[in-house]
Amino acid sequence: MQELILLPKPLDQLTDPEIKRKACIGKIMTYTLKSLTNTYVTKGFEWLLPVALSQSTDPLWPDPGASIEKRIEVNIYDKLVRTTASMIVHKLVGCSTVYEKLFILSPNIRIEKAERAKTGKHIYEFTQLDFEIRNANSKDIFRLVEDTLCTLIKGLKVECKAELAALHRSDLKIPKAPFKVLDRTDLEAKHGIEWEARICREITEPVWIVNIPREFYDYEDFATGRWDNYDLFMPQYGEVLSGSRREFEYEKIYEKMEREQVRKENYSIILKMAKEGRLKPTAGAGMGMERIVGYITGVEHIGECQPFPRVPGNVHEL
Ligand code: AMP
Ligand code: MG
Repeated sequence: MQELILLPKPLDQLTDPEIKRKACIGKIMTYTLKSLTNTYVTKGFEWLLPVALSQSTDPLWPDPGASIEKRIEVNIYDKLVRTTASMIVHKLVGCSTVYEKLFILSPNIRIEKAERAKTGKHIYEFTQLDFEIRNANSKDIFRLVEDTLCTLIKGLKVECKAELAALHRSDLKIPKAPFKVLDRTDLEAKHGIEWEARICREITEPVWIVNIPREFYDYEDFATGRWDNYDLFMPQYGEVLSGSRREFEYEKIYEKMEREQVRKENYSIILKMAKEGRLKPTAGAGMGMERIVGYITGVEHIGECQPFPRVPGNVHEL
């Protein structure tokens, strides 16, 4: 099945009909960015500008979905910096100090293994709409994401009617909120490790999947072993967003970093702020822009939603 996927082409190689199709996807991306950022700004979020190089970035570990071929590290001013894997660390520090509610259109560089070229869901540079809220819980995040998504799709059906029709997506449904919540442990018990593929096929509305063991910053209840985190899955499609309520207590963060062999020296600000009680309880998430527009437009490969496709293993001049 995967072998049949055609890889997205660079702009200069598109035929006339392909240029028209690309223009439709571009209009839908523009409307999506407009609608989502408008919702966050209207709700009082601060819009932060992104960073591309930092000493500290997301460890992306342990995460059952991660598959990174290499990490990019470079020396500037005699300091080692890394390209942004996600802005989670910046979000935690920003949200604990100045910005009670924040969002960023953040660049994510993840050199995915070349064998992921034809999954249709992986690119090696992508943009997350990443947000964080002080003193929020999972329910607050669910309601916010549901609201932003329903507003977006409702608007798209009016403002991008012609583009959706050209892409054969006039049947795109405005989801019904609140979305169902499913626990990963129940899915595993029912379907085994293949639960992800099964759930994509079975659902007809977006669903929240909760309780997924992963990085140190996601909240884990040590007494029960339950994780207070979540992914949003779209029907036939799969994960478009991941997030959690966050850890903020020093002892827990330290213990998790030890357990997962995460290099503590890369997270000294988090550890210091947590120790001094300055890391605040927050919750948030990041939605992949190419994935959500990929779902909306029904493309085979999300690289089609990028003007300059970043397909794993495929490097072009632009
Ligand atoms: P993560 O925290 O790793 O789950 O990433 C957050 C979101 O970014 C995911 O839910 C996806 O929407 C998106 N994402 C993650 N990895 C990729 C990738 N390689 N290509 C495109 N989007 C991605
Ligand atoms: Mg994820």
